[in-house]
Formats: sequence, C-alpha cells, structure tokens
Amino acid sequence: MNKFFITTPIYYVNSQPHIGHAYTTVAVDVLARYHRLKGEQVFFLTGTDEHGAKICQAAQKAGHQEQKFCDLISEQFKQAWRALNIDYSYFIRTTDREHEKGVVEFLTQLKDEGFLYEADYGGLYCVGCEKFMTEKELIDGRCPDHQREPEKISEKNWFFKLKEFLPRIEKLITDDQILIQPANAKKEVLGLFKQGMEDFSVSRQNVSWGIKLPWDQSQTIYVWVDALLNYWTALQNNNTVILNGAQRSEESQGLNDNIPGSFVGSRSPQDDLRHFWPPDLHIMSHDILKFHAVYWPAMLLAAGLALPRQIFIHGYFTINGQKMSKTIGNVIVPQELIEKFGVDATRYLLLAQFPFGNDGDISLDRMIETYNAHLANGLGNLVARVAKFGFKIQDSRFKNNSEEQYQKLMADLDLYGVVKLAQEKIQECDGQINKIQPWKIKDKPEQEKVLKPIIKEILFISRCLAPIMLTTSQKIVEIFKTGQSEILFPRII
Ligand SMILES: [Zn+2]
Repeated sequence: MNKFFITTPIYYVNSQPHIGHAYTTVAVDVLARYHRLKGEQVFFLTGTDEHGAKICQAAQKAGHQEQKFCDLISEQFKQAWRALNIDYSYFIRTTDREHEKGVVEFLTQLKDEGFLYEADYGGLYCVGCEKFMTEKELIDGRCPDHQREPEKISEKNWFFKLKEFLPRIEKLITDDQILIQPANAKKEVLGLFKQGMEDFSVSRQNVSWGIKLPWDQSQTIYVWVDALLNYWTALQNNNTVILNGAQRSEESQGLNDNIPGSFVGSRSPQDDLRHFWPPDLHIMSHDILKFHAVYWPAMLLAAGLALPRQIFIHGYFTINGQKMSKTIGNVIVPQELIEKFGVDATRYLLLAQFPFGNDGDISLDRMIETYNAHLANGLGNLVARVAKFGFKIQDSRFKNNSEEQYQKLMADLDLYGVVKLAQEKIQECDGQINKIQPWKIKDKPEQEKVLKPIIKEILFISRCLAPIMLTTSQKIVEIFKTGQSEILFPRII
C-alpha cells in the first residue's frame, strides 16, 4: 500500500484563522482525501507555530500569558478546521513537549556532527517577518510587508553551515528530485542559488518565548528552525498520535462502493508513523518558499534524513482587488462563508475561483454567482431533474471515459481543473437531457434506458467531487440508490 505524507504549513498564532489559512488547508484536505479514496495510507499534518518574539508581543497586547494565548488561538484553528470538515491526521503545536524534545535532539545532533558554530551577528531584523533583512529588501528603510523599520541587532548566535549543502540542493532542485512547482517557483529558487546564500543562525539571544539551546541557555532556537522541524517531530512520538480513522471510514462508507477497488484505510494508533517519512508534498504560499526549498532540505541533509519529494506553491489572493488586511477591514473568516453557503459549497467555492498555483481575486458577490451557476442551477438542478424519474442504480462500479483525465488532474494538483471537468460534465448531461426529452417518453423501460447513462455520469461527477464535497457526494449516491430526491443547493439571492 502506498503511503502519502502531506502537510500544510503550521500557522502562526499571532492572528486568528482567516480564509487564507482556510484556502491552503482545504486544498491539502482535498488532496489527502483523494489519496485516501485511492486506498493509500495518508498522513495529513497541520498545526500551529507558537514561539517567537512576535507571539510575545501579540500575547501582551491581548493581555494573556504566552501559553494561555497560544492555547486560545490554536483552539480557534482546530475549531475552524472542524467547521470546514478538515480531516487531518494530526494537529501539531510547537509548544507540545514532544515537539520541543524532538527539536532539541535534532539540533544537538547537528552540533555533535559539527554543522553548527558560534559567531557574532549584526543585522537588521524585522520582528513582523521574524527574519533578518538586507538593505536592498527594504523600501524607504522599512520592511515592505510590515511598513516598519527593522531593529538593528548585534549579538552572538549559533549558525548552521548552510553553504556546505548549497551545491547538492541546487542540483536536487534542478533535477526535480525535490520537485518545486509551479515552474516559476522553481525558477525563483534556482535564482537564489545564483545570487548566493549565507549560513543562517539557528538561535537568537533575548527571545524569551521559545525553546532554549540545551548547551547554551542564553540562546533560544530560531522560530523558523523550530517550526520547520514540526514535519519531522510529528512522526517521532507515536504514542501521542490519535488518528481519526474510525470516523473517517464510517463517513466514507457510501462512497467506497462507488470506487472500484478502493478501500479507505483506518490506521491504528499503534502503527509506526515513522514509515511516512519523507514528506511527499508540502503545500504553502510563496512567502515561505525559501525556508522550505533551501533551509529545510539542508537541515535534513545534515541530519542524514530523506528529503521531501515535492513543494507546491499556491497563489495569493486579494479580496475585491485589495490585499486582505486588518487595517482595511476586509478579512474574511471561514465561519462567514460557512454560514452563507454551507460547508461543502464553501470548500468548493474556495477552489473554484482561480487556478490552484496562480494568484487571483476573491469577492463575495462572485462567490454567490459561482454558487448559483455551478451548484444551485448546475449540479443540484441536474440531480433533481434526473432523480425525479425515480430510477435507481445500486451498484455504481463502472468505468467512465473521463476517469483518466480526472486522475491526471489530481496528480497535477489541478484542483481548479477538477472543478472545470465537473462543470463540463454537468453541462453535457443537461444538454443530453434537453435533447432526449425523457419526459416525453411514455415507455418506462425506454425511459430508463436513456436515463441510466446520465445517472452514471452524475455518479461519476459526484465521485470526482467527493474529495471536495464529501457530504454532497454521499447524498447523490444515496439519492440514486433510494430513488428519493432532496434539494442539494438552495439558490442564494
Ligand atoms: Zn517584515
């Protein structure tokens, strides 16, 4: 049985979950569900990033002690993912004791093997970014992302010998052994190697909220090193991991019948999670590409661990043409969308706005239009048109001539393509029905004969959309099993 280890970035708890986080997490959930439906063993990891000076500041501002603050925000992420029907295997927090222990062990190994050294460091540090910046990255002396002047910092840090690993990583990326997609992301990373990169520090002085270096208590482990290691530490502590496999296999029962030769595996907590290493797919937005494509593989090479196979960068989106920001006041939280559209449609609409991997724009008005066109008048109406004749299909194991196309789209992570394929099929079915006019056929067996192929098409569409809209897919299977219809997507005015 194939294994598939897929991750979201862990989200920084300085802000509450918004649709940017939801977009990434829904996409990863869809891919995880797709691989599970294929019968693979899937480990889907998400979580929260909770250390660093920025969290200290946010906690203070909120009037909480740091841990308490992290507990509160981390719980909000869990709630948001529950509301969006996100079926992660494990939710990691960087304040988990097991994670902290793993990070310390990892860095101790790097030091013992001679990959860390102590040196003075002076530079411009943006707390907003939690990173050092070069003069040329600044605009008018300010961080372009945070509109503030970075702090001048001069201190002793522990450094990682990044430069030793650069030629190997550059070759691995060039040869697609670490596959970076889309192509422009790969190109950008390769450009970084051309410019040259310096060793980076793995620790900070005067940062109280974080993991101390075991051999130098004046130093706190750099929050990015701490965060990246979550992908590794999550698999190291099996006892604490409870996979929600039981729930999953129950939920998916209706669909299993629909997919030839597939079985949704539920894993027992006793299974050794380490066999999931290395990550098969890291998904993230562009701002953290360098950390994942360069620093992270270098740390793994130094530790003698296998490298991630693929990194995929999805696009940014604007809201009505503007960058989403608290200042503008246009931040959308997932709950708003769920209340308006329901869970399944929210997941669908997030992916239906623009191609996965591109930048794009989101607007509530356009989401309503898409909802009505694709779901209310599209899929929902099609199901109703056909279901009212009452023909049933019990055993829906059959081949569809678009199966290969669907598998390819998923393999290419083209989630927007999947949405488009479903829409094309829906339109084809509608055209077909208009042409054959089944309501004019008086002979029942004849009517059934012309409608059965259309029902099969609808069941195929529902199978394609199952990773995005599980509940809807199950309902469609049920409708054609029992012959009893229901309204799937009421129109929104
Ligand atoms: Zn910044």
